[in-house]
Amino acid sequence: MSSVTDREGVARLTRVVRPTDGAGLMPPPRPTTAKRDQPGSGSTLLPQTGVARLTPRARAAESAVREFRTVMGRFATGVTVVTTVEKDVVHGMTANGFLSVSLRPPLVLVSLGRCRMNEMLPRSGRYGVSVLAHDQQHFAAHFAAQKPSPTEPTFAWQEGLPLLDGALAHLGCRVVDVHRAGDHVLWIGEVEYIDHRDDEPLLFYTGRFGTMRDIADRIDK
Ligand SMILES: Cc1cc2nc3c(=O)[nH]c(=O)nc-3n(C[C@H](O)[C@H](O)[C@H](O)COP(=O)(O)OP(=O)(O)OC[C@H]3O[C@@H](n4cnc5c(N)ncnc54)[C@H](O)[C@@H]3O)c2cc1C
Repeated sequence: MSSVTDREGVARLTRVVRPTDGAGLMPPPRPTTAKRDQPGSGSTLLPQTGVARLTPRARAAESAVREFRTVMGRFATGVTVVTTVEKDVVHGMTANGFLSVSLRPPLVLVSLGRCRMNEMLPRSGRYGVSVLAHDQQHFAAHFAAQKPSPTEPTFAWQEGLPLLDGALAHLGCRVVDVHRAGDHVLWIGEVEYIDHRDDEPLLFYTGRFGTMRDIADRIDK
């Protein structure tokens, strides 16, 4: 199976979200004339087809990847399992690159690097997000392909989407927009289903899982 990379992959993703019932989901395609890349042609202001244009300064950040990860690791997050289904095959993966984008309409996004999920979403067009509870760390490690869970994950089905049982919150989303950004792809989903329960969340901080108390204890030491 080919992976979603480069220009061809972006073209494939773009086709998936190009609406059949109306225009405007994606920016207009880039002009194909060679002139556009010439200095002074104004090309930096042209809209991109979901492809982030890196500045020379952004490329220089390559040398500081470790520092970048360390800094971003100070942004404490929850942990989700993103799911989809294709031809009755359920697939899940752990992701903390998840955020709320818009209230009206309700939009969220998941940011995915090179992974199997990126290959399935152009075909399935829908994904579920399960926000993990404090006692679901084994599932977080399982769906990150780090360590198999001692218990088999089970899924609740809502409107044709699998959502991990026992999670704190569930969202069912339809892909409405896709953007490539550097080495990740941003999958914007319109939220079609939600539910939640109250419990303590699983957190991810400085590259480690923990509860709120675990993390507070770690900082105190
Ligand atoms: C805290 C944390 C946050 C992360 N955040 C992100 C992020 O935001 N973006 C990102 O791109 N990557 C993220 N990752 C990395 C990502 O989880 C891994 O790279 C993952 O392996 C990618 O999954 P995949 O789609 O390639 O599928 P695979 O690696 O093939 O599958 C993931 C695992 O889930 C199991 N699995 C899948 N479906 C099922 C099923 N139906 N039943 C039982 N088991 C199943 C597989 O056996 C495998 O062990 C994160 C990892 C961690 C630990």
